Amino acid sequence: MAVVVGITCNRVGYENRLSQAYVHAILQAGGVPFLLPVCRDEQILKRQFARLDALLLSGGGDPDAFLYGEEAHPGQGTVQPDRDSMELFLARQAFACGLPLLGICRGAQMMAVAAGGKLLQDLKGVERVQHSQRAPRSYPIHSVLLRKNTLLYRLTGRQKLRVNSMHHQAVRLPGRLAIAAVAADGVIEAVELPGHPFAVGVQWHPEWLIQTESHALPLFKAFCAAAGNCRRKNN
Ligand code: MN
Repeated sequence: MAVVVGITCNRVGYENRLSQAYVHAILQAGGVPFLLPVCRDEQILKRQFARLDALLLSGGGDPDAFLYGEEAHPGQGTVQPDRDSMELFLARQAFACGLPLLGICRGAQMMAVAAGGKLLQDLKGVERVQHSQRAPRSYPIHSVLLRKNTLLYRLTGRQKLRVNSMHHQAVRLPGRLAIAAVAADGVIEAVELPGHPFAVGVQWHPEWLIQTESHALPLFKAFCAAAGNCRRKNN
């Protein structure tokens, strides 16, 4: 039976929004997308979490620097306290329960914050690679180097991937996560939780690379496969 993958939404005014690219990626990987509206009520979140086989933290705005003990840099964007709170709670539950978790862009950053890490609040002046790409989002603008002994390396079987890049923040300190990939300028591009069945955060957007890069869809497939294995183990 197909796995149910909860995907966190973004709230814009009174609307919950999610790019169809995430939904499409999960469908193509054989999963059942289940949209999670922004909500900070932990009782509601627990009920939703109990029905999930996997959790996808989607992209979006900047996590509040307050969450990792820092003052907001002038370059930090708009913060969404309700979404921050929801995703921190869900990420920590997924870490603790061994629920497969995939973080994309902001999602990878939220994973690091949930794991006690810290972010680099603005790459302007620091980056030596174009991380806010001007090319269309399905174009892989820069490369990343994968570290051996990581799940990401085992999944892709490759040391170097070409990826798209639409971020002005990045993980600075990964907390209890391990660094799984870096860009040529040293910016952290992927993190994962060692010992967890599947807790991977990527700074790029694989959901936009499915047509162009052969590593993109296998990541979603491996995520859904991990969810299926975990469900079988727990039943
Ligand atoms: Mn990048």
